[in-house]
Amino acid sequence: MPDDSRPITATAPAAKPKAPVDLGAHQGLIDQLRQIVGSDQTMSATDERLFYAEDTYRSLETPLAAVAPGTVDELSRIAAVCGRAGVALVPRGGGMSYTDGYLHTRAASITVDMRRLNKIVEINETDMYVTVECGCTWAELNAALKAKNLRTPYWGPLSGLRAVVGGALSQNSVFFGSGLYGSAVEQCIGLTVVLADGTVQPLGAHAIQNGKPFMKHYGPDMMGLFLADAGAMGMKALATLRLMRRPEHRKHVAFGFSTASAMAGALSAFSREGIAAEAMGFDAGQQSARAVEAKRSFKEDLSTLFKVIETGGILDGIKVAVAGRGYLKDVPYGMHVAIEDKTAEGVAALFKKARKLAKASGGKAMPASITRIVHADPFVPPDSILGPKGERWVPVHCIVPHSQAADMIAKVQALYARYDEAKAKHQVRTGFLLVTVGNYGFLIEPVFFWPDARLAMYDKIMRPEHLARLPVLAADEGARATVLQMREELAALFVQEGAVSMQLGKFYHYDKALKPEAWALLQKMKSVVDPAHIVNPGALKL
Ligand SMILES: Cc1cc2nc3c(=O)[nH]c(=O)nc-3n(C[C@H](O)[C@H](O)[C@H](O)COP(=O)(O)OP(=O)(O)OC[C@H]3O[C@@H](n4cnc5c(N)ncnc54)[C@H](O)[C@@H]3O)c2cc1C
Repeated sequence: MPDDSRPITATAPAAKPKAPVDLGAHQGLIDQLRQIVGSDQTMSATDERLFYAEDTYRSLETPLAAVAPGTVDELSRIAAVCGRAGVALVPRGGGMSYTDGYLHTRAASITVDMRRLNKIVEINETDMYVTVECGCTWAELNAALKAKNLRTPYWGPLSGLRAVVGGALSQNSVFFGSGLYGSAVEQCIGLTVVLADGTVQPLGAHAIQNGKPFMKHYGPDMMGLFLADAGAMGMKALATLRLMRRPEHRKHVAFGFSTASAMAGALSAFSREGIAAEAMGFDAGQQSARAVEAKRSFKEDLSTLFKVIETGGILDGIKVAVAGRGYLKDVPYGMHVAIEDKTAEGVAALFKKARKLAKASGGKAMPASITRIVHADPFVPPDSILGPKGERWVPVHCIVPHSQAADMIAKVQALYARYDEAKAKHQVRTGFLLVTVGNYGFLIEPVFFWPDARLAMYDKIMRPEHLARLPVLAADEGARATVLQMREELAALFVQEGAVSMQLGKFYHYDKALKPEAWALLQKMKSVVDPAHIVNPGALKL
């Protein structure tokens, strides 16, 4: 064994949720919740409690029940009764996260399922904002805005068929539009949050006494405390986001590179020059699992092709069909880019610049099927929660400034190498995905695939026809512990290197990442808005 190779000392997290505790003394609270939202929206049967115990990665404690408010008033009354009972309130959006964000650190917890609060309240085309209830999915919001030729600048994560606005504002999130417009929270100008005691708290543009929610800053930004907070500060009920006209022209371009640092250089150059609406880079591990080996039926491939033709035209369809997937097999590092602009001339100029910059970094042009396919059908069912061989999947990520990108990728690769022996023993596969954020951020997302048993929640969130064609694997504690340990080591590395993360949940070491004075102030602020610490205990490590 090489000197710096890592033995596995971590204990594998449990494969199944803990058995639900007896409702006993809490039955009175459950009855009160039933009175507020009705029996059909109060989920306290064993299978329901077990479902709400899992995120897409694992489980901690099993809640007493889940409750789904349909109005802000119901949400406020739920908070008040749970507060009086001293029972934790854990907000859950689309349930698409994997960093313990909506998992329970106490058995005496109620999940607040926000998905019934899903109305689009106002699309203001004159003042260019949209006000939406926080349980609305990104897919629903985008469809409503598209009908009016509008868009939020960042317009959702890849999980947006299920992931909701409140989830992304609590996690912070990047993908569609992020190359130009940054992350989810940067789009938010107003919020209404229900606090631990049931107070309905207006913030940002929602705080103004008379007038419209058109501008975020009016005096100090108190709303900032509630964004990217992992739901630790309160439950987001309503949000107002900026709008823009949809760019009418788009082109796709892709390049292969022989080294990660060359690809990182090109991604950074694209980001600085404002070229890509979305720019992502894959290493061979990620590319193979997600594009080359991906399990899809002929019918699905055909349906995707039709969607490509519908959105990009027949020429785009032909390009995707002719390229197939095989071309990616020999590409060590692949960069996939979507370019958009108001005019065809604008897109053409950006396209020309893109080719020049990629060439200068040693990139070789290749078919640009990936972003074409992604744009044809942006919000697909979350079938990629399992790998192509039925393996479990989980990512972790950090964001660094461009100047640190190549170095951080090398550190991630060095960490992978230290686990070569354990990875081979337990059949753990690794890879990474790179994404640029505005002109300032470089996101590095290490990903893990490992053989292990499925979580029960996958039966509810993945398509049965997709699950049916994947092998069912046995539980594998050794592989699970290996991934846990590598993921933890990466989280510690990110703090050490001054990288930042989104999706903080209860996983990232946020308490260690902040300067002590900043951490102390955050703790004080938590005590002001949630003195009894009943809202999502453990989120942000508070
Ligand atoms: C297949 C797949 C693809 C993904 N793609 C992307 C991607 O492209 N980009 C990306 O950034 N992430 C991605 N993710 C991660 C995740 O889906 C996103 O971060 C997403 O924004 C989570 O939203 P959600 O509604 O599912 O939140 P949840 O998972 O339900 O919750 C996330 C956190 O937000 C809190 N929360 C939710 N709603 C509220 C509320 N109303 N008030 C207060 N707190 C609340 C929860 O307590 C929790 O801490 C992906 C995940 C999967 C499984």
